[in-house]
Amino acid sequence: MRKLAAALAALSICIPAAMAQEYPARNITVIVPFAAGGPTDTVARLIAQSMTGTLKQTVLVENVGGAGGTLGAARVAKAPADGYTLFLHHIGQATSATLYRKLPYDTINDFASIGLITDVPMTIVTKKDLAVTDLKSLISYIKTNKDKVSYANAGVGAASHLCGMLLMSAIQTEMTTVAYNGTAPAMRDLVGGQVDVMCDQTTNTTSQIKEKAIKAFAVTTKTRVASLPDLPTADEAGLPGFEVAVWHAMYAPKGTPKPVIDKLSAALQVALADRTVMARFAELGTEPVSKERATPAALDAHVKAEIAKWAPVIKAAGTYAD
Ligand code: ASP
Repeated sequence: MRKLAAALAALSICIPAAMAQEYPARNITVIVPFAAGGPTDTVARLIAQSMTGTLKQTVLVENVGGAGGTLGAARVAKAPADGYTLFLHHIGQATSATLYRKLPYDTINDFASIGLITDVPMTIVTKKDLAVTDLKSLISYIKTNKDKVSYANAGVGAASHLCGMLLMSAIQTEMTTVAYNGTAPAMRDLVGGQVDVMCDQTTNTTSQIKEKAIKAFAVTTKTRVASLPDLPTADEAGLPGFEVAVWHAMYAPKGTPKPVIDKLSAALQVALADRTVMARFAELGTEPVSKERATPAALDAHVKAEIAKWAPVIKAAGTYAD
């Protein structure tokens, strides 16, 4: 009996190692918690394409939008920890931990970090025929017309929600928010003039700004973005200290064997050095993180630091969701 127990124990130690050697033996799915065609999806598809080449198995993207990214996160938290379901999310993974009184998952304990991917600036944009010329006139327009100005976001927990919440708090004026399951559909309505204002990643706004399909007033990072050199920072344009940089990262469900995580992290690092990925990121106003940050340990520390950084800011702005 004791021999049998020892044999079973030895077998269970060998399984993860054997599994990692064979891994991946079939398609891998990356859950993106927002609609197809939006900024998170854009990053995910670029990374998935490169990882497909490295891992020699198709890496698919599945969009599970809704509730500001928390529906997708909940799906991944409960998925089998076998390396075949992954998750690509942004800053919302950390901010949702404070924004929601109760989440159907544990942000720290239900996910295994694979690595950070990018830091992406956001832009404050409006529909093209809004009668404003710069950030200061946009702010006074919002203050004067507060009952009729609408703000598009991708739900509580989305980066567009966070940026809007900070904007409304900074100018001490509420706008009517319109929630979408991602900023791809929100952008369609902004271009169509059905909503007035949005704040979204450059990965979604750059081409629309360049084509003058929308108006842009500020970028939300400390420095200007090379792909939109004429766009002032929010600080320069009249919102001192206003800063939101969105980061994207990749995770697996907690319990995914370490050798599998290491293989995925190595494939992520290859993707971040891929010329096609880098060129597209540059066009979209972003860049990959350094190799040192695209690791499980760096992402573990980053998520904790971001939860701690944003909790007091969110509490001060006073928005919660149930
Ligand atoms: N950019 C969106 C957000 O506001 C999400 C998306 O559609 O990728 O978080």
